[in-house]
Amino acid sequence: MSGKELVGRIWKATAGFYYVKTEDALLECRARGVFRKEGNTPLVGDMVRVSLTPDGKGTVSEILPRKNSLVRPPLANLDRMVLVLSVTDPEPNFYVADSYLAILAHRGIDAMIALTKSDLADPSELKLLYAGAGYPVYVVGQGEEEGLSALVNALSEGISAFCGNSGVGKSTLLNRIDPRLALPTGDTSRKLGRGRHTTRHVELIPLPGGGLVADTPGFSSIEMLRMGHIPKDELAFCFPEFAPYLDKCQFNNCSHTKEKGCGVLQALEQGQIDPRRHESYLRLYEEAKQVREWEV
Ligand code: ZN
Repeated sequence: MSGKELVGRIWKATAGFYYVKTEDALLECRARGVFRKEGNTPLVGDMVRVSLTPDGKGTVSEILPRKNSLVRPPLANLDRMVLVLSVTDPEPNFYVADSYLAILAHRGIDAMIALTKSDLADPSELKLLYAGAGYPVYVVGQGEEEGLSALVNALSEGISAFCGNSGVGKSTLLNRIDPRLALPTGDTSRKLGRGRHTTRHVELIPLPGGGLVADTPGFSSIEMLRMGHIPKDELAFCFPEFAPYLDKCQFNNCSHTKEKGCGVLQALEQGQIDPRRHESYLRLYEEAKQVREWEV
């Protein structure tokens, strides 16, 4: 019996099974062995071709071209990543946040920022910092219903995912966005020892207001930093607020670290670029340089 072929999106992956959402069904599928051999695993978010098997299940036979992909969390075709930062307790680590934002830019994934715990400390400085760098910023502490509904609105199309270090209130925020998620938070998640969210399980969940959100295990942004190396010559393009000044540099190969006649450094001096962001840039640039030297 020749298998009928369908195209759909992988909504869920767990221990070797893929659940593919086609126009009218959610098909349980296995992947062809060739993917593992080629080291190319299907990811949640992938558009795939599926051949139906006689038992009403399917086999993933082809991964259609991806818009982008991430290793941590393992997702493909993301439309945006929401970086969750808490205004206080813990205070944000700018270097970690900026590194991750740069990696997302390098991978072609739009980033936005959700500021939690704004009921405990004033979020305005952080908001200014990242809005000034060109990122959409949503203030979503307890009681900030306006910020929350603006964020929900921004998620209403395509696939979104959330990341943030532990303690920033990521699960609490997701539960406020969709109470059906009922993610364990704070004390509960410590008691459960992350049992429910094993690293194998990733799932797309449709939001009440539209859009899909990836329910992923709690990867910290530090873990995610390990996945991305940005070559030093591409780094400046991963800081959106540098863009208007890049063609004002005197030298074509300007590193924007110390050169005379550098447009970025001039903008920094004039207060158009925040020193904390440039500081992160310098540190990333230094690291990128070392990786290269070490490789050579
Ligand atoms: Zn420059």
